[in-house]
Amino acid sequence: MMPAAAVPLVNLRLERGVAILTLDHPPVNALSSALRLALYEHVRELSADRSILALILTGAGRGFCAGADIRDLSGAAQPPTLPDLVALLAHSRTPVIAALHGAVLGGGLELALGAHHRIADAGAMFGLPEIKLGLIPGAGGTQRLPRLIGMPAALGLILSGESIGAARALELGLIDELAGDVLAAALAAARRLAAAGPADAGRLRRLDELPVSGDDETPLNDAAAGLAARKPLLPAPLKAIEALRAAAELPFEEGMKVERSAFLALRDSPESAALRHAFAAEREAARLPATLAAVPTRRIGTAAVVGAGTMGQGIALVLAEAGIPVQLVDAEQAALQRALASIAGINRSRVARGKLSAEQEAALSARIRPTVNLEDLKDTDFVIEAVFEDVAVKSAVLGRLDGILKPGALLASNTSYLDIDDLAAATRRPQDVIGMHFFSPAQVMRLLEVVPGARTDPSAQATALALAKRLGKQAVLVGNARGFVGNRMLARRTREAYFLLEEGATPWQVDAAFTDFGFPMGPFAVGDLSGLDIGWRNRRAVFDRLTPREQRCTLLDQLIDAGRLGQKAGRGFYRYDAERRAQPDPEVESLIERHARAVGRERRAFGSEEILERCLIAMIDEGARILGERRARSAADIDVVWLHGYGFPRHRGGPMYHADQLGLAAVRDAILRYQAEHGAQYWAVAPVLESLAAAGGTFGSWSPALPEAA
Ligand code: NAD
Repeated sequence: MMPAAAVPLVNLRLERGVAILTLDHPPVNALSSALRLALYEHVRELSADRSILALILTGAGRGFCAGADIRDLSGAAQPPTLPDLVALLAHSRTPVIAALHGAVLGGGLELALGAHHRIADAGAMFGLPEIKLGLIPGAGGTQRLPRLIGMPAALGLILSGESIGAARALELGLIDELAGDVLAAALAAARRLAAAGPADAGRLRRLDELPVSGDDETPLNDAAAGLAARKPLLPAPLKAIEALRAAAELPFEEGMKVERSAFLALRDSPESAALRHAFAAEREAARLPATLAAVPTRRIGTAAVVGAGTMGQGIALVLAEAGIPVQLVDAEQAALQRALASIAGINRSRVARGKLSAEQEAALSARIRPTVNLEDLKDTDFVIEAVFEDVAVKSAVLGRLDGILKPGALLASNTSYLDIDDLAAATRRPQDVIGMHFFSPAQVMRLLEVVPGARTDPSAQATALALAKRLGKQAVLVGNARGFVGNRMLARRTREAYFLLEEGATPWQVDAAFTDFGFPMGPFAVGDLSGLDIGWRNRRAVFDRLTPREQRCTLLDQLIDAGRLGQKAGRGFYRYDAERRAQPDPEVESLIERHARAVGRERRAFGSEEILERCLIAMIDEGARILGERRARSAADIDVVWLHGYGFPRHRGGPMYHADQLGLAAVRDAILRYQAEHGAQYWAVAPVLESLAAAGGTFGSWSPALPEAA
């Protein structure tokens, strides 16, 4: 008897003795426990049915299967597990053919490796992205893939987590056939395989029974040596190599055990939990808020960038890359010439690195047209200003644009700190004005803080978010407050970093504490890279609002006075050699010591942990204040800002997630300790943190719907 055709998630169709099983679990046929069970039952019954000649496994919708259901990863999986399911397919007496299209990823690819023959169409994509979530393939991927495509190629796919297209998959032997109509080709293959003789006659290619071709350990040893230099070195790549080594050295079943135990250990590791949080947080941040879901967006066919400096150049390039013709405006012809030369330089190096063809380069350059004339923007759909960070300069530019732009044009500012409402007030169209804060270099950094003002129209917000997506940016919707989310928290971190110098730490100790934690650079090295004059100008702009200790902490002013502007001057916090390699500079140490004496600060030794705790907890407290003021939609959104704009180590999940791991009561207690030492002007427990810590809650459980703490 046929299994109940009504079993949801997998559809069964019979075609002259061939059973076609179609995964049907929108949107991506994720392998939930219910789907696994349904498929398992079908395969078990069909493969025992002598009247069935072959099984075809295929997927409905956009792709075959994008892998496990990420929610299933927390806690023990309901049986049948994916390894059980794949083993059932692999050992089926009836031939199993996988007919593949679209995404064939993770568990989806492992499922396909259980089949005896794989056919895909030209658009199929194959990959094992588990490593990006701090995992390894856990359903035989590490054992079957090297048996199918050899160790070097399997290592490449598993360690990178990157996908390959169907043509490459055919070259590697990952699939047996490319076909226009995969189902028709699969039916033909089914008949061929079924006609080849009785089931057990060895006609089926069972990957489990194949040796790993070549017993050369060089690729594994090379990969292991390559990992040793990685910083941070995470457990998943090491475990992947361990499992692949087992594939090469042990019988299949033993190798499966090694893979399984490595997978389970990784699944329960803090790194994987943090990476999964990061992944889920990004998806959530990209989702439109309910209030904007039904709002129509405006058409953006043309764009302009006003201000052709560092940021303007990058933003123009990003727009051109998305296929949008862009006018680049600057007050000075010379600035435009410099901008075009620097854009051409970026593109040339991309062509040289094979990232761009010469034709693409030409098309890209042709899309960027320079002008000194704002009047040229009268028909433009989207204008973003990236002129000097000065409210008077920006207001003047926005005021002029207001008189030129057509009604309904979206008018954005790339300001880092300024109040969007102040800027909007320079126009008679505040409903069209929005903050779109790109990060430097704009063509590289994925983060985009989208900052509606009090009067920004919902359609302007929805349009800005849709544009961000088109530009390939990770948008995060944030509230309008000085420095928005990222720079506001950064300011707290910077303040503590400077105070630590006064109290006894050196810039290199502070930086090392951050890089050891997993940041690519520490705060002082970052300052040197961007130019210390940027931070100094910002300090001047807000000087009156600084606390007395900050005003007296003149280290930055002294460095600037000494001509130490950072890397570009060869000297900043560090000294730089001709290759721009940083060296600690005793002169800076003496400058700090002199300064500490002058302001009457005793210096003492600091350990890495203390440095890091103090800086991170200052940021976390500011994050809690941002939540309390409803200037971020969730703690996870704040994490996304820090992951994509400031190099927060992804395997730590982000500052707010990290706080949850520390425990909010511990975070609160640390703040109270700092308060006792430095005073309430510098340290106080944010109300949201206070109430969550008291209730044993987490930032992850916070929602804007909660009443604001007293
Ligand atoms: P920049 O000094 O490199 O460039 C500013 C450009 O604006 C110059 O070319 C200048 O000639 C031009 N300009 C000035 N006034 C103008 C006017 N009235 N009309 C037309 N052009 C005019 O500055 P930048 O670093 O690119 O920063 C620009 C904006 O982006 C600032 O608001 C800054 O806060 C923000 N931002 C900078 C960074 C960064 O890391 N540099 C990151 C994010 C945001």
